[in-house]
Amino acid sequence: MDRMTTQLIDLAIADGGTGNAEVIRTLEKHLATLLDAPYALGVSSGTAALVCALHAVGVQPGDRVAVSALGPSMTGLAVVAAGAEPVFVDCRPGSFALATDALDAAAKAGPLAAVIPVPMWGYWDEDPQVLADLRRRGIPVIVDAAQAPFLRLGPQSLAESVDVICLSLHGRKPIKAGEGGACLTRNPELAERILAVRNFGQQTKFTGTRLDPTGPFASQFGSNFKINALGAAWALVQSTDVGALRSRFTTLRKTAQAAFEATGIAWQEAPQAGAVLEHGGYGLVALCADAGDAADMAHQLADSGIEVDTLRYSYAPMHHSPCFAGHQASTPAASDLAARAVACRLEAFPHPLTLGD
Ligand SMILES: *Cc1c(COP(=O)(O)O)cnc(C)c1O
Repeated sequence: MDRMTTQLIDLAIADGGTGNAEVIRTLEKHLATLLDAPYALGVSSGTAALVCALHAVGVQPGDRVAVSALGPSMTGLAVVAAGAEPVFVDCRPGSFALATDALDAAAKAGPLAAVIPVPMWGYWDEDPQVLADLRRRGIPVIVDAAQAPFLRLGPQSLAESVDVICLSLHGRKPIKAGEGGACLTRNPELAERILAVRNFGQQTKFTGTRLDPTGPFASQFGSNFKINALGAAWALVQSTDVGALRSRFTTLRKTAQAAFEATGIAWQEAPQAGAVLEHGGYGLVALCADAGDAADMAHQLADSGIEVDTLRYSYAPMHHSPCFAGHQASTPAASDLAARAVACRLEAFPHPLTLGD
């Protein structure tokens, strides 16, 4: 272990390793800068981030929450964990973005308490006007950016386009704490509520932009969604040199593109909005002409030792999971995209670079 990592882990241990340790404040500051959102709150997982965000925006048991059908089951499970009902929204044909007509239909069928778009593998293709309209109508937008910590938009940042950004710091995501996550927002009231949900319902006090839990427990609903300080220390080491992380993922992306090209099968990269300045950093998605081509490509990549999500999970809209069998959903565009997509995490590609290079 390098000296900085050892020192930060020592500091975390000196603070008892708890979710109130100073290393977490420092990590939160780095994440706030990275995502251009003044309030960043470390939490115990990406799922916990979604649960905290859902409570903070006021989602109540029984409420309907629209979720991108192409997100992983973890996103829908977080909605269920908050006691709400996931409403699976189809994508625009050939894109990971929410389809406007499907979103309208979901809102017509009953009030929506929140909407969760998911930039899968780092691809962001949402229509900013659609998100702005939702928020104007009082429907909060929570983005599950677990796979997109490096996503950058211009001229409006991601943090300006949504109410809460949720990150995962799981060991298979670009910034790693082992298990961990974060909620980011530009709204101080939402930040206070997220903190309360994370810290057993404690009230908070602002000191500058820093939130300090001060009041008694259970002043409102909360639980324990705090991040372990040892994991946070590890994530902090990575986030002190985000430039190195970013360039590592840029290099990995080139390696991945070359590997996809080498299969000789025709493919197109999944589309992104014109406003995307930087890919979210998690993976590469090839859209093939049909499911047969996608299967061929997936097998070729798997044969060369690269983990491919079509084989590991047989990628399909999340409502195909048994847990969601009771919920009605019709998402033909999402089914078509999932069948034609070959998706890989960038870190699955063999590359000589290692963290810290
Ligand atoms: C990994 C992931 C999650 C869950 O995050 P955890 O930290 O494992 O709880 C949720 N949503 C997406 C899009 C993910 O990739």
